[in-house]
This record gives sequence, structure tokens and C-alpha cells, in this order.
Amino acid sequence: MLSKRIQKIQPSATLSINAKAIELKKQGVDILKFGAGEPDFDTPDNIKDAAKRALDEGFTKYTSATGIVELKEAVCDKFKRDNQIDCEVSNILITNGGKQALYNCFMAILDSGDEVIIPSPFWVSYADIVAVCEGTSVYVDTTPNNFKLTAEMVKSAITPKTKCLILNSPNNPTGMVIEKEEIEKIAKLALEYKFYIISDEVYEYFLYDDKEMFSIGSISEMKDLVFTVNAVSKSYSMTGWRIGYITGPQEVIKPMGNLQSHATSNPCSISQKAALEALTGPQDSIKQMADEFVKRRNYVYEEMSKLPGFKLVKPEGAFYAFPDVSGAFTNEVNDSFKFTEFLMEKAKIAVVPGGAFGEAGNKYIRFSYASSMEDIEKGIRRIRDALL
Ligand code: GLU
Repeated sequence: MLSKRIQKIQPSATLSINAKAIELKKQGVDILKFGAGEPDFDTPDNIKDAAKRALDEGFTKYTSATGIVELKEAVCDKFKRDNQIDCEVSNILITNGGKQALYNCFMAILDSGDEVIIPSPFWVSYADIVAVCEGTSVYVDTTPNNFKLTAEMVKSAITPKTKCLILNSPNNPTGMVIEKEEIEKIAKLALEYKFYIISDEVYEYFLYDDKEMFSIGSISEMKDLVFTVNAVSKSYSMTGWRIGYITGPQEVIKPMGNLQSHATSNPCSISQKAALEALTGPQDSIKQMADEFVKRRNYVYEEMSKLPGFKLVKPEGAFYAFPDVSGAFTNEVNDSFKFTEFLMEKAKIAVVPGGAFGEAGNKYIRFSYASSMEDIEKGIRRIRDALL
């Protein structure tokens, strides 16, 4: 009796692995968690205080379904300041995490059979959200180019049914960044072939070495074609608060808000006040986290490259390492899912199988280094021991 639509989707692999690791920990297993990507830092105190104030002041009722105006203004200022994206309050929707922004957006633009180009490996939820919205995912394999998407790759996937392309830079799960020149070429393709771009920029502040953020939404000619999605989850270590936001053409943002008004009503009122403080208050916690992540990235890159059978491209951003582990496969343990199980059983560590991020990822595992340095050191030691 289930709908065909719902039968197309699987549970989120990242969240399932996290739940499994938590369950094993509860049972007393000494499991180390490198599965779900979430910063191990606490939400900064100024943000928590803003939430406490909201509670004390009774800000506990419905808000506008699309989010409070002050938060939309803060989001506009942020987009102008950090991303050079020109927007108005009417172009902004506040959502329950970045996921709802994506969901609403696909619901608003996709008709059955419309194609969405997804550079692969890709974050687990894109394909399932597209499927539930009855779109068709068209994958572009970036593995031959060290996970770097090029305009040429995009061009090869364009058809008359192409409705949209997802950009995700810095990328989850690979940690790679798309170069500005390439983004500009991709923008030209979108203008020529008339398709939307959804740019998921949730890892924008976690860029290493000389990498710089370039938002495709800052190209003024693209105003009618680009949606920029972001969230406070990663930037301010607020994964549980569930606040995301999106800017894009008003004629789509408005119906997305209509859908949200019927689906969830407003995002949590208290979380909205906390997010307002996050975006307008002191920003030093971002730099503290990024400084810590780069140290961990360096350590993970160096040590993981030495593991037998592991090959690794140096991540340029986000907080994930995505090693090719096929050199460590055996006759029985011969894909990323089995290798992940092997690591869970033998090394007592939780990682995400690369195959969960699309077929192109099945030789890889995703290791989130948003965990303490102590755990990372222990985790890599455990992998080494398990492989001996
Ligand atoms: N986005 C993070 C990850 O990829 C959190 C879990 C999720 O929402 O998928 O691990």
C-alpha cells in the first residue's frame, strides 16, 4: 500500500551510522565516532544565552511560517557581507535545517522526470530528496579528476530535460573545492541552457590553505537561476537547533514558503532567536573551529596516507577525509559497505561507506575529522592495527 514515491528512498546513511554508533556506545562498546559530520564543539555561549532569553521572554509561539523578519534581515546582511549575493528579505526563507530548504526547493521546481545533475560522490540526501520529488538524478563522476567538478563534465550531462544542477563546494564527502574559473564557466552553461543551480554552501567557512569561497549567486546575471542554501548547523556548531536558510528568485521562494506553511509551519521560534545571535553576534568561534579543523586535516592526511592500501587526496575544505581504501580490500571485504562493517567490528570505529555517496564512491570511506584530536589519533591507530 506504500506510494511508489516513498519506496524510492532509503534512510539517511550518515544518520543511521551515527544512530548505530550511539546505540553500541550505550551497550558499553568502546566505539569511536567518525560517521555523521557534526562539529564536536559546543554551541557558543552567546548563542545559548539568546535562546534562554527567548524562552524567558515567552518567545515560544508560532512565528511567520517563513521565519522572523529580523532573522531574514540578518541572513541578507550575511549573504551580502560574506558571499557578495544581493538579496532582499522577500528572497529569503528560513527553514528547519538546510535539508528542508533543499526539499522545498526541489518540490517547487521539479516536475516528474525533470533531471537534476548531481556531481558524484555527493551528500547522501540529495538523490533521495530528488527521488521523492519525482525528479531524475543524473550523476557526473568526478573521481577521475580528484573529485574536482569541471564545466566540461557538467556540459556532458545536459539534456533538454535538465532542470537543475547541484553545486556543493566545499564538498561533502570529498572535501574538495570547485575553482572560481570553473564556477564561472558553469554559470555560462546555466545561462545558455537555462537551468537552475542550487548551491549548497554549508561548509563555506571551513577552507584550508589558500582556498577562497566563491558563491555562484554573486554573479549578477545569475540572479534568476541560483538558489544559495546555507545553515547555522556547521558554522556555529548548531546541528540540533535545525535552522537553515535559502535565497533565490522570489517567484520560487514564495511557493516554497507556502509549502512550508503546510508542512512544518515555522522553524522553532527559540532556535530562530539563537540563529539571529549566531549571525549578528561575535564570529570568533568560526575561526577557532576552522583553525582546529586544519590541524586535524593535516594530521589525518599525513597519517591516513601511510595506512596500508589507503590512498588519499588532500581535502581542501569541510571536515571530511575520503580515502580510496580499495587497496585494503580482500576477497570477502570487497566494497565500501563491507569495509565499513569490518572497521566497525574489528577497529571499533564508525565511518560512512563511500558507496552511500553514490556508486562512484564505492572504493572509498568517509572519515569525519570533526572529532577530538585524541579520538582521531586513537581511531587511525585502530585502523592500522585492524589492517595488520
Ligand atoms: N550532513 C552531515 C553528514 O553528512 C550530517 C548528517 C546528515 O544530515 O547527513 O554527515
